[in-house]
Amino acid sequence: MSAVAAHPLVFHPGRGSGDLAARLSRAVEGDVLFDAGSRARYATDASIYQIDPVGVLVPKSVDDVRTAIAICREQGVPVLPRGAGSSQCGQTVGAALVIDCSKHLARINGFDREAMTASVEPGVVLDQLNTFLKPHGLWFPVDVSTSAQATLGGMADNNSCGSRSIAYGNMVHNVHAIDAVLSDGTEARFGPEDEMGAAPARIGELLRGLRAIGARERDEIERNVPKVLRRVGGYNIDVCCPQSERPYTADESVNYAHLLVGSEGTLAWSHALTLKLAPLPAHRALGVVNFPTLYKAMASARHLVGLRPSAVELVDRTMIDLARGNPAFRAVIDLALIGEPDAILLVEFIGDTREDPLRRLRDLVALLGDLGLPGSVVEMTDAGAQRALWDVRKAGLNIMMSLKGDGKPVSFIEDCAVPLEHLAEYVDRLTQVFARHGTRGTWYAHASVGTLHVRPILDMRRDGAAKMRAIAEEASALVREYKGAFSGEHGDGLVRSEWVGWQFGPRLSRAFEEIKDLFDPDGLLNPGKIVRGTKMDDASLFRFPPGQRTEPLQTALDWSAWNVQNDALTGALTPPGTGGDPAGGFGKAVEMCNNNGHCRKFDAGTMCPSYRATRDEEHSTRGRANTLRLALSGRFGADALASATVQAALDLCVSCKGCRRECPTGVDMAKMKIEALHQRQRAHGLPLRSRLVAHLPRWAPWAARVPWLANLRDTLPGAARASEAWLGFSAQRALPAWRSDTFLRSVAVARDEATSANAGVVLFVDTFTNYFEPENAHAAVNVLRAAGYRVEVARAEGADTEPSRPLCCGRTYLAAGLVDEAKNEARRVVAALLPHVERGAAIVGLEPSCLLSLRDEFLVLGLGDAAQRLAESAYLIEEFLAREHQAGRLALSLAALPQKHALLHAHCHQKAFDAVTATKTVLGLVPGLAVELVESSCCGMAGSFGYDAAHYDVSVRMAELALLPAVRAAAPDTLIVADGTSCRHQIADLTRSGTAREAIHVVRVLERALGR
Ligand SMILES: Cc1cc2nc3c(=O)[nH]c(=O)nc-3n(C[C@H](O)[C@H](O)[C@H](O)COP(=O)(O)OP(=O)(O)OC[C@H]3O[C@@H](n4cnc5c(N)ncnc54)[C@H](O)[C@@H]3O)c2cc1C
Ligand code: SF4
Ligand code: SF4
Repeated sequence: MSAVAAHPLVFHPGRGSGDLAARLSRAVEGDVLFDAGSRARYATDASIYQIDPVGVLVPKSVDDVRTAIAICREQGVPVLPRGAGSSQCGQTVGAALVIDCSKHLARINGFDREAMTASVEPGVVLDQLNTFLKPHGLWFPVDVSTSAQATLGGMADNNSCGSRSIAYGNMVHNVHAIDAVLSDGTEARFGPEDEMGAAPARIGELLRGLRAIGARERDEIERNVPKVLRRVGGYNIDVCCPQSERPYTADESVNYAHLLVGSEGTLAWSHALTLKLAPLPAHRALGVVNFPTLYKAMASARHLVGLRPSAVELVDRTMIDLARGNPAFRAVIDLALIGEPDAILLVEFIGDTREDPLRRLRDLVALLGDLGLPGSVVEMTDAGAQRALWDVRKAGLNIMMSLKGDGKPVSFIEDCAVPLEHLAEYVDRLTQVFARHGTRGTWYAHASVGTLHVRPILDMRRDGAAKMRAIAEEASALVREYKGAFSGEHGDGLVRSEWVGWQFGPRLSRAFEEIKDLFDPDGLLNPGKIVRGTKMDDASLFRFPPGQRTEPLQTALDWSAWNVQNDALTGALTPPGTGGDPAGGFGKAVEMCNNNGHCRKFDAGTMCPSYRATRDEEHSTRGRANTLRLALSGRFGADALASATVQAALDLCVSCKGCRRECPTGVDMAKMKIEALHQRQRAHGLPLRSRLVAHLPRWAPWAARVPWLANLRDTLPGAARASEAWLGFSAQRALPAWRSDTFLRSVAVARDEATSANAGVVLFVDTFTNYFEPENAHAAVNVLRAAGYRVEVARAEGADTEPSRPLCCGRTYLAAGLVDEAKNEARRVVAALLPHVERGAAIVGLEPSCLLSLRDEFLVLGLGDAAQRLAESAYLIEEFLAREHQAGRLALSLAALPQKHALLHAHCHQKAFDAVTATKTVLGLVPGLAVELVESSCCGMAGSFGYDAAHYDVSVRMAELALLPAVRAAAPDTLIVADGTSCRHQIADLTRSGTAREAIHVVRVLERALGR
C-alpha cells in the first residue's frame, strides 16, 4: 500500500521527498512554489478546512504536469489538481503537490460549430468559454453561480450543476470526453465505450475491471443510488446501470468520461475536456412568483415544473432583506416584489420564438390563480431586468456570507436534494432542527430539482463542530426518509466523504474503493476524498479550529466596526469593539474573506486588477486576505505583518478599492494595506522613494517656487535613468510636471470675489490639482459659478497664500502607511472644513482618490463625529452637480461641443463609491454628447504605483487589459474623459509613442460647453 495510506491527509515524507522542489524546478517550466506564503495561500478553498499543501506547481504546459506526476510518483508525494479553488467541501485542500491549472492551461483548443462541441484545457473559465461561444449562438449551459471564476476542469471533477439544470442537466450530462493522465503516467481519452477500443492495454484492463464491478453491483446500485435529478456524491458508478432521473447519455449507452466527472481529482488528471454545447436560447421570459410563506413556495414547486421551465429558483425573506440592504441590488429586487412576500420563486421560460416563453408565462399566471395565489406574479420580459435579477440570485450565497462576527453560515448540508413532493416538508422540518440547535438558515436556490441551499450559522471556534455533527445527523435522517441525496451539488470533499458510506451502503463504498484502486493503486491522487475520508468534524483540519489564536496588534486604523459577535438566531451584532479580537477588529476584518474566489474574475467591475494582470493567486484579493489572516495567526513568525511574505502579497495591490465594493463580504484590501504598510514601516522604515512621494505635500510648495529645478528629472538628459537607478522611478515614465501658476496662488488674488460669508459650495483643491493641473480647479470654479453657486476655496486656517501649506487629504501618507502623518493632514482638513459644513455648505472636490478619502479613510482615523459630519457633506463635483440636477436646482446652461462622443474611464475610487452614474449624468447634460463608459478595471497607474520601475510592466499590463485598447480605438475627435490624475497620466504616457491622446477631467468638458 502507498506511503499515504496510514492517514489519508497526512503526508509522510520519505523516499527523498526533501528535494521535490529542487527536482521540479529543474524539470518543469512553470512556477514551483514551496515558500511558506504560497503554501499557506493554497491551504484553503471555499470550505471550512485548511491543510498545508506540500508545495504548489503552476504548470506552463501539459508536459509540466506529466513530469510532475512522474516525479511525485517516484517520491510518493500525493498530487492535488486545482482550478479556481472555489469548492465548498474541501475538495482542493490536502497535503499534496497542488497543481493549479488556472493560470496557463486555459486555452480553447477546438470548436466544431456543426457538431456543437468544444475542446478546452482544464483551466478555461466558464464565462471565458461562453464569451467565445456567444457570437456563434451557442453556450455551455451548466451555468454555475461561480461562472466568472470556476474552471471547466474543476466543474467537471465536481460534477457541477447550474441554475438551469432542469433543462440542461449537470456536468455529467454535458461532458463528452476527457483526455486524462493516470497517476502511473498512462494516458487515455475517456469517452463513449465504443470509441475506447484503441486504448492502451492498461486502460483495457481498467475498463474490464470497471465492467466487472458494474455487473457485480448492479442490484446494489439499483437499491442504493438515489433516483433524483441531483446526486453528485460518490463515483458515478451508475454509468453502466443508469439511475439518474435524467440519463447521462440520450441512448443510455456507457461513456467512461462520466466516471471521471465528479471524481474530485481522485482518479486522473484531466488535460482536455470535450464538451457538448447548446444553442443560446433565443427568447426568455421570467415570472417572479411572490409567496406569503416559504412553505407555500416549496409546496408549489412541483406544480411549477409541470410548465417545463428552464429554472425555478428560490430567494427567501432573509435573502430579500439582505439584497434590499445592498445599494447595488435594492432597486433590482424591489422590481420583483409584490408587497412583503416571505419568499419568491424565479420561474424562467425559454423558447425559439418570442411567443413561446410568453405563452408559458401566461400559463404560470393562470396556474398560480388555480393554486389560490392570483396576482402573485411579476412578469419580466425585459432582458436587462431579467439579467439584473439573476445577478442578485447568483450573488445569493455571497450576500449571506457578509455577516460579521465569528458565527458564519457553514456549508455541510447545503445541497441535500429531495424529491419535489417532499420539499416543503423537508424545509419545514430542517428549519425546526436548526431552531433546536439555536441557529437558523437562509434558504435559496434550485427549487426545480429539489436542491435548496441552506447554511446554518455556526461558530467553528466554539461549539460549531458539535452542532454541525448533530444537525448533519438529523438532516441525513430526513434525506433518508424522503429518499433524497445527501450531496446534490457541491460534492464530497472533506465534509462529506464520511457520508458516502451512509448514502451508498458498505458494499458500494467498497466498490468505490476498488474503482479508486483500479485507477490510482498508490493512492497518489487527492487522497482522502470520496473514499477513505476523514471525519467531517475533525477539528485538526479546520481553518478556524477551537482555540484558534489571533496575535495581539496595536492597530493604526480603527477596526472596531468588525470587532463584533453575532447572534445566530437573530443576526443582531454586539456593539463595535466587543468581539474579543486581540487585533482590535483587524483580525476579524481579514477573516471576512470566506475564500469563495469571486475576486478571481475577469468580467465587469474593477476587482481585482493585479489578479487580472498576473493571474497569480498571490495577487488576488483572496490571496492577500489569506496571507494577512495567516500572518495574524502567527504563521509567519513574530511581527509577521511587517514580513517580506506579507509585503510581497500586497506589493501589486493598487489600492483601487475594487474589493471594497465588489467583494461580496466587503473585504477592503486597500484599507488593510494601509494597516500592513504602517506595521512594516514602523519595523523597517521606508525606502527613499516612498518617503519622497509620501511627503510630497510637505515639499510641494518649494518645488512650485522653482519648477524648472523640480522638473529637471524629465528635462535633463540622463536624469530619468539616474532617478531609476537611485530612487526606483521608472525611466520610461515622465513624471507630472510642476507648475508655478498653482491654483491656490492664482485665486489668492481674486479671493474676495471667490469667497462669501454664505458660500454654498466650498471647493477642496487637492495637492495634485493645485500643483500639476490647476486648470481643472479653475474649470470647477467657472462651472459652479456659471450654475449660480457662490464658490469658496477651502484653505487651512491662517494659510491664505502659498507657500503656507495648503490643505491635503493625506493620501500620499496613507499610501505609504504613514498613518500618523495622514491623521495630521486629516485633522487640518476637518478643522478647516467643519465650520463650512456646520452652516450647510457642500464640500466639493475633483480628484476621486483625495475627495473620497474624506468619506472613507477619514472615518477610521479616530477623528470622531466631526469626520462623520464632514463625510456626509463631501462630494465629487459630478456627484454634487448630479444631485442638484436631480433635485431640479441645477441652472447650468450648456451648449453643444464640436465633439459628439466621449469615452469615459472611471477612476477606481469613483466606481467603488458608485460615482460613475453621476459622471455619466453630468456628461449627459452636454447637448448631443454620446457617452460611452470603458468597461475597464484599474488604469494601472494608481497613484505612484505605475511610476515605480519595479511595477512598470504590471502597470502597463493593467492598462492594456481594456483601457488602452478602447482609447486607441476611439475616433480622433472623441473626447477622452478621466477624472483621476493618475489615469490621465497613464493614458498620456502610454499613448506617447503612437497617436498621443489627452484625457481631461469631466469638469473641463463642462467648462468647454459653457460656450464662453
Ligand atoms: C459562492 C459559491 C457559489 C457556488 N455555486 C455553485 C453552483 O451554482 N453550482 C455548483 O455546482 N457549484 C457551485 N459552487 C461550487 C464550485 O464553485 C463549483 O464546484 C466549481 O465548478 C468549482 O470550480 P473550480 O475551478 O473552483 O474547481 P476547484 O474547486 O479548483 O476544483 C474542483 C475539483 O476538481 C478537481 N480538479 C480541478 N482541476 C482538475 C483537473 N484538471 N483534473 C482533475 N481534477 C481536477 C479538484 O481536485 C477538485 O476536486 C459554488 C461555490 C461558491 C463558493
Ligand atoms: S476577498 Fe472577497 S471576493 Fe475574494 S475570495 Fe475573499 S470573500 Fe471572496
Ligand atoms: S484594492 Fe484593488 S488591487 Fe487591491 S486587492 Fe482590492 S481589488 Fe485588488
